[in-house]
Amino acid sequence: MKVGMIGWRGMVGSVLMQRMVEENDFDRIDAMFFSTSQAGQAGPTVSGKSSTLLDAHNIDALAAMDVILTCQGGDYTKQVHPALRAAGWTGYWIDAASALRMDPDSTIVLDPVNDDVIAEAVAAGKKDFIGGNCTVSLMMMGLAGLFREDLVEWCSTMTYQAASGAGARAMRELISQMGALHGSVADLLIDKDSSIIDVDSGINECFKSSTFPTEECGAALAGSLIAWIDSDLENGQSREEWKAEAETNKILERSGDAIIPVDGLCVRVGAMRCHSQALTIKLRKDLPLSEIESIIGAANEWTEFVPNTKEASTAKLSPAYVSGSLNVPVGRLRKMSFGPEYLCAFTVGDQLLWGAAEPIRRMLRLLG
Ligand code: NAP
Repeated sequence: MKVGMIGWRGMVGSVLMQRMVEENDFDRIDAMFFSTSQAGQAGPTVSGKSSTLLDAHNIDALAAMDVILTCQGGDYTKQVHPALRAAGWTGYWIDAASALRMDPDSTIVLDPVNDDVIAEAVAAGKKDFIGGNCTVSLMMMGLAGLFREDLVEWCSTMTYQAASGAGARAMRELISQMGALHGSVADLLIDKDSSIIDVDSGINECFKSSTFPTEECGAALAGSLIAWIDSDLENGQSREEWKAEAETNKILERSGDAIIPVDGLCVRVGAMRCHSQALTIKLRKDLPLSEIESIIGAANEWTEFVPNTKEASTAKLSPAYVSGSLNVPVGRLRKMSFGPEYLCAFTVGDQLLWGAAEPIRRMLRLLG
């Protein structure tokens, strides 16, 4: 299987490459590497084979591939995918970008949740397989068991999303902001007897300083948060918030009266690469908490049920614990005072793994 890899050196692409090496995926495919800016230069060496980068805009070269796996971004997809299809290319297009996600001919891939939908799509001759929004995919991984048993009547998702969702430059800026804040009061911190009011004033001044770096994030993220992600749909909702219901139902292939309402507020916080979410879930029926815990924990090998204790929650329900791992811990599970069908939960996941690279890596693996 000839696989054209595009966007392999970007942030999502680098995590994808790392995972493909770990899983020996390159031994099963004939990988060709493309670039939009470095054609002709040396590409990566995989499975002992070196490569020269091909031009990611060359439709003839792309059309020679059985599969195209791209993490290049939505602009690239919008430009190249229609041109390739217009040229008669019938290969599989696997993509991390959102551009084709809601296209009626595409399938959103998250196989631990919708392997049945993916299998049907492949059998039906569909060719476009797109990774879901990171926050949606991570919420669905956490609640996979409840969705599989059709127990969720509706769900509210209040998110705490990491800087990596805004790109590599936002991650760098977050650390620069942390450095600027620390630097502004470093002397006061060394002196253990200094007044905390002076430390706090120093931090406030730093936030307001014209040299405090905010070009990428648009505002302070370190020591603060940003209560809006993605574009304004001008109905009070952000595009990130709109994706929750739209993508959840597309992943589960539900429409019309069968739609599961999913809505909430999306907030950026100063975490590096793990998104966290506080969930309010209305179940279709009252079930004992122990049964709900088993359903959540047994859903797949990555979803980890965390007992609702202070110790376990502090240790495991955090970006610091999850970062770099495929584990999706779900905890703080309890019935709410609203009634026996109302649950709250908290979940954390690495948005570059299950939120981006892993579902598309596994889709490639599914093809052969
Ligand atoms: P990115 O890091 O900006 O990389 C995209 C491309 O930028 C690279 O493939 C590379 O293409 C080019 N590039 C230019 N200078 C570079 C440098 N110094 N280092 C590395 N690459 C450089 O993009 P991304 O954050 O991975 O996102 C890619 C797509 O995945 C987007 O559509 C995004 O929406 C989607 N996605 C992102 C996330 C996320 O959390 N970030 C999650 C899910 C989906 P050339 O080699 O062709 O120059």
